Order: sequence, then C-alpha cells, then structure tokens
Amino acid sequence: MPDAETKNCLHCEKPIRGRIDKKFCDDYCRNAYNNSLKAPSYNMVRNINNQLAKNRRILEEVIPSGEEMGKTTKEKLLSKGFSFKYLTHSYTNKKGNIYFFCYDYGYLPLEGDWILVVHRRLEKET
Ligand SMILES: [Zn+2]
Repeated sequence: MPDAETKNCLHCEKPIRGRIDKKFCDDYCRNAYNNSLKAPSYNMVRNINNQLAKNRRILEEVIPSGEEMGKTTKEKLLSKGFSFKYLTHSYTNKKGNIYFFCYDYGYLPLEGDWILVVHRRLEKET
C-alpha cells in the first residue's frame, strides 16, 4: 500500500522524514530551492545591466577624446552591439529634442540614419 503521507523534498526530491507539513529536507534544500526561483529574474537584471554598460561604452567611443559630442550612424551603433531597447533615462531640451541616455552618455536621433552622441556630466550630489 503506497504511503500517501510521504512527501518529497521540493529541491532534491528525496522523501522527507518528519513533520507532514515540511516541504524540504533541511535549511540547505530550502535555501537552494528559493535561490533557484530567484535566479531567472536575477539573470534578467544582470543581462540588462551588462547591456546598459555596453551601450555606455559604445557611446563613449563615438566621442573623440577632448570633445563633448560626436556623430555616428544607427547602423554603426548596431554593428557594435548597441541596443536601442535599453536606456537609463531621457532628457528633453528647450527645443523639445529628446535625448536618450545610458548613464552619462546620451544620443539624439538626427535626420536620416545619423545619431548625435553627447556626454553629460551627472549632476553633483548636493
Ligand atoms: Zn532536500
């Protein structure tokens, strides 16, 4: 006769001994299970952070050293692995132009395929 009261650990799937309301063998299995649930969303956060850092690096390379802005094309940015999907914030200037930023580097889509890249120092903490 199968023992209907036997439960298996949600992590290692071994039968659990002891109290009937237990879901895990021990703290190790409970922590491992909870961490595995968190992993996919954490990976998503890490992947987006990596892409933002990459975007920033690509924008940084567009600006010649010693200058405040540079010009490139959408195609060139894409070929370097830039993702237009991810940005940290946007900024609208007085003319109504919207700049899209990855941290302190931003871009403004221009006529055709052109992109203006700007460096803007982050506001100092007061
Ligand atoms: Zn277990």
